[in-house]
Amino acid sequence: MRPDLGAGAPLTLSPTPSSRATLTARVKRLAAEHGLSVSAVTSAADFPELAPLLEKHIAAGRVAGLDWFTPERARFSTAPRNLQPSARSILAVALAYWAETPPPRDGEPRGVIARYARGLDYHALLKTRLKALHGAIEGEVGRPVEARHLADTARIVDRAVAARAGLGWYGKHACLIVPGFGPGVVLGELLLDLDLEPDAPLRKDCGRCTICLDNCPTGAIVAPYTIETPRCLSFQTIEQRGAIPPVLRPALGAWVFGCDVCQEVCPYTRAARGVPDPAFQPRSVANAHPSLRWLLAMTEAEFREIYRGTPVLRAKRRGLARNAAVALGNIGGEDDVPFLATALAGHDEPLVRGHAAWALGRLGGATARTSLDACYASDPDPTVRHEIAAALAAE
Ligand code: SF4
Ligand code: SF4
Repeated sequence: MRPDLGAGAPLTLSPTPSSRATLTARVKRLAAEHGLSVSAVTSAADFPELAPLLEKHIAAGRVAGLDWFTPERARFSTAPRNLQPSARSILAVALAYWAETPPPRDGEPRGVIARYARGLDYHALLKTRLKALHGAIEGEVGRPVEARHLADTARIVDRAVAARAGLGWYGKHACLIVPGFGPGVVLGELLLDLDLEPDAPLRKDCGRCTICLDNCPTGAIVAPYTIETPRCLSFQTIEQRGAIPPVLRPALGAWVFGCDVCQEVCPYTRAARGVPDPAFQPRSVANAHPSLRWLLAMTEAEFREIYRGTPVLRAKRRGLARNAAVALGNIGGEDDVPFLATALAGHDEPLVRGHAAWALGRLGGATARTSLDACYASDPDPTVRHEIAAALAAE
């Protein structure tokens, strides 16, 4: 049963301080009832200090490759009323996803998918719940409420909104750390024309801890709170559409979609006690720990069927197969050479053939060399022949 928060009389647009507090409590209660268990409020005021900071990051090349991340977008995203001029408050919400789903012990070389991407796409999930919450708020206040539903969009500075609302605080890995849940959350926002009572930001920081900086496989956390995107494995395995820079390939390990290392090592992840949302549960082993050999050979239809409704679709079949080739080069053995040789000889995507060549060079051996030699003579694509030549030279 819901606690009595004074339900009954519709609330007015400009409430008194006490009715404002009551309305805020009702909205948060409704958020919890709509599957948004963590929520907090901030005003819709601008974030004037952030625009120059973001522009500095762009100028320094820290978001190179994210072509949509322009100075104009940075300025736009720091003023929430650009999205909704009538907005007075922002309800910041979080969904917890962090759960352990260990791989089967079957001897199969398997890739790793980042935990947030193992279940349903959180964009759709958040939007659905925020829309339902919006409807419930209108029912509660007894009038139409102007609102915008936002789920991880670059059109608003979502972590800054959540931090100002006191939903969590910035970790040095640049993720928001939510008390009780750690950094394993996705964020969303509901802009509202309601005057809600803002929460205070949390007074917490990482202190002298540098564990995430010390453990990032590529050194992408170049300074506390600062990620150099082109070096981050999340970018390389998901957003990178071309070749992964050879210097970063060994650091991929078995990651085929995203990377959780900086969160895995964070003490606040281990200390988290919150229950993850069941929507993030993987449907099958392939949604969390896919066989690398299978990824290398999967058809478009198989890719679409297995990853339907999940964030993994973003990488596309060729991106996931490319990552699988690299991962097999990193964690595979002699038994994997024939699978890579088949991909090098016959995969329809030159990008995958090129990365299979790299992996064969890394695994080495007579069979790998024979395959590389044969395909160097026959592959019609110059980028693949370039990768083969580099692999033969590295052997
Ligand atoms: S996601 Fe991985 S590569 Fe990116 S900063 Fe974190 S640990 Fe480093
Ligand atoms: S690992 Fe340490 S430094 Fe990094 S975010 Fe967690 S507490 Fe902060």
